[in-house]
Amino acid sequence: MTSAAAPVDTALQPASAEAAAGLVRVALDTPADDYFDYLADAAVMPGELVVVPFGKRHVMGVVLDRPDNTEVPADRLRPVTGHLTWMPPLNAAWIGLARFAARYYHRCLGEVMLPALPPSLRDPQTWERLEQRARTTQYRVRPAQSEALLAAAPSRARTVRALAEALIAAPDGLRLAEARELCTAAPARLAEWEAAGCIQSTHADRPLLDKAPTQVPSVAPTLHDEQRAAVDAITAAEGYAAFLLHGVTGSGKTEVYLHAIAARLDEDPAAQVLMLVPEINLTPQLQARIAERFPDQPLAVLHSGLADQERSLQWLAAHRGEARIVLGTRMAVMASVPNLKLIVVDEEHDTSYKQQEGLRYSARDLAVWRANQLGIPVVLGSATPSMESWYRAEQGAYRKLVLRDRAQADAALPTVRLIDLNHERQRQRTLYEGLSVPLLDAIQQRLDRGQQSLLFLNRRGYAPVLACDSCGWLSGCPRCSAYLVLHRPERRLRCHHCGLEAPVPHHCPDCGNVDIAPLGRGTQRIEEALAARFPQARIARIDADSTRRKGSAQAMLDEVHAGEVDILVGTQMVAKGHDFQRVTLVGIVHPDAAMFSHDFRAAEHLFASLMQVSGRAGRAGLGGEVLIQTRYPDAPALQALVRHDYDGFAASQLRERRQAGLPPYAYQVLVTAEHAQLERALAFLQAARACADASPMAAEVQLHDPVPMSMVRLFNKERAQMLVEAGSRPLLQRFVSEWVRTFDDAATRVKGVRWQLEIDPLRI
Ligand code: ADP
Ligand code: ZN
Ligand code: ZN
Repeated sequence: MTSAAAPVDTALQPASAEAAAGLVRVALDTPADDYFDYLADAAVMPGELVVVPFGKRHVMGVVLDRPDNTEVPADRLRPVTGHLTWMPPLNAAWIGLARFAARYYHRCLGEVMLPALPPSLRDPQTWERLEQRARTTQYRVRPAQSEALLAAAPSRARTVRALAEALIAAPDGLRLAEARELCTAAPARLAEWEAAGCIQSTHADRPLLDKAPTQVPSVAPTLHDEQRAAVDAITAAEGYAAFLLHGVTGSGKTEVYLHAIAARLDEDPAAQVLMLVPEINLTPQLQARIAERFPDQPLAVLHSGLADQERSLQWLAAHRGEARIVLGTRMAVMASVPNLKLIVVDEEHDTSYKQQEGLRYSARDLAVWRANQLGIPVVLGSATPSMESWYRAEQGAYRKLVLRDRAQADAALPTVRLIDLNHERQRQRTLYEGLSVPLLDAIQQRLDRGQQSLLFLNRRGYAPVLACDSCGWLSGCPRCSAYLVLHRPERRLRCHHCGLEAPVPHHCPDCGNVDIAPLGRGTQRIEEALAARFPQARIARIDADSTRRKGSAQAMLDEVHAGEVDILVGTQMVAKGHDFQRVTLVGIVHPDAAMFSHDFRAAEHLFASLMQVSGRAGRAGLGGEVLIQTRYPDAPALQALVRHDYDGFAASQLRERRQAGLPPYAYQVLVTAEHAQLERALAFLQAARACADASPMAAEVQLHDPVPMSMVRLFNKERAQMLVEAGSRPLLQRFVSEWVRTFDDAATRVKGVRWQLEIDPLRI
């Protein structure tokens, strides 16, 4: 039986006299410490979930250990008050993964462990509901106990009596739900009768995963030589091996994953595999492809779009070993998969593998660590590997597997052309709402041929700012150093950073001028301009605004696939993964903003995202063309794109990074601080820096000066940052573990400051 936090006294398992009370060591979700000691009977095992008193509350924790002694004085030791008994314990490998992540990201163990568990397990109040779905409990009368049972069920309590009679009448027993229908007090009565020895309960796990409707398995294509070589290398691996599978979009990487997965699952009837994808929106498509290929293999899916109970059931299916394939977004890297034999990380370069709040982990890096710990292969796949992974492959730490061409014989790589906007201006051709003549002509051609065009603009809304011509007023966010974005169809101004919303003013709030106008362009404006220019075309826009309703993204994508859309306008939501068969033109409206970023990874990210979106063109043998509008046609990222030259681009990036001593040649830690006043945030970082300077290790790390962040104000808080670098990861780790202990001290001197430590920061 499950026992919840309260009421406390019924909580522990049958308090059998011989169950010796002893100590348990428990991880709790608090930054206060890695573990806390409690009293518990012998039934409580490491890896199990318990409820314990913590201050005035009762909280859930994970049992780490059964220690022999404790530093907690005997009179302060309190007993465990609840215990989840029906779930198999988390195994030592899983606890080891959490321990590593806690150490590496400098967090307390429970802060890593508990958030990694699904919502219904984290909350003891929902344990019982989850149990009812996860297993069946059957209650039966014990042989020759019918009389005793009737004696315990007085006939004046009618429903209780009815329950007893029903139990006697049912040779196979009753399920809890059935018992409840007869008598609302069934749970308490049944527990009582069981304790008295009149009845007994038996339990069976219920299958958690819906069986996919039986379908004809899709036939795996015959692999071409490079794919074959890749699959062979992966399946031949014994023990830990990390592979970097580099292949352009459409080169058949997914086929390689599927073959490698098939081989693992065939090899061992209990084997499980874990596949990570960067975006929720990509899971339905891949889920369908996996289900078609492996109709008999139970598949669990894990992402934040699932309702709590559903996510918990999927998690449990992985944890119990029922799911053979576990597909999920970054959170899935922490799933309990006890018989894990292969990990795949698709689009390994994708920045969504990095958690940006709370525990700022990299799912890709943890996946590699996990594979290493378990002694299994891990495959990182990408058309544009991250510089970190590429460098490791060059160093020989990862084995490089290359797919050079598109898999389908008739699908050539698209031609990429730059439209030099300076040149357009010289020819006195003005832009039509930000769209150049060659791009408009190319769209018209597609319309004439009945083909699809995709226009990519990574900026949602109608216009990024509203401006007053006469006094220079701009629609700034009062809470952030950012502009309020005009959303014309919704008639709202919105801050994309803090969520503030305001009505669109009719006149300038500063000078009263009624001529206020949108500056610049977002997807809504492009959609509007295209509709005016091509009135006969069917246009769809896919961005975070147009897909707010659940399922609407999929519905729109389905329309595109069905050929019901001529022109698709979208943000990065359309750039990734989707296999649009009829798109032959990709137009990139405005990549230039990314070129002025201070972030040293800006070029890498620009290249990756443009390569991704370019990959949407010409997948099905119709020939594809990519047009990029730019005022900077000489930018190395764009030039490399024209030549489809990832290798050359990567080599030049790495050369620059080596010279500048940047990752992957150095390791970084970023400390950020926020406070209502910028000086206070900076003062905290100065204090932290002073502590660092005093450390004996300070000579070996490079401490940069605290500076305001480039977007300094967010939600009424001023933010500053300080970067620390070193040439060796272990050295930096050692330094930080010492250093971080001084932060609380610095924080007490600067009241109200909040700080964050980010290991391997992605955006600086
Ligand atoms: P990627 O994951 O690299 O984008 P996919 O594995 O999705 O590539 O393959 C792209 C397209 O080519 C898919 O439609 C896939 O079915 C097809 N394909 C992949 N490998 C082969 C092959 N060996 N023979 C024929 N078609 C293939
Ligand atoms: Zn004005
Ligand atoms: Zn704001």
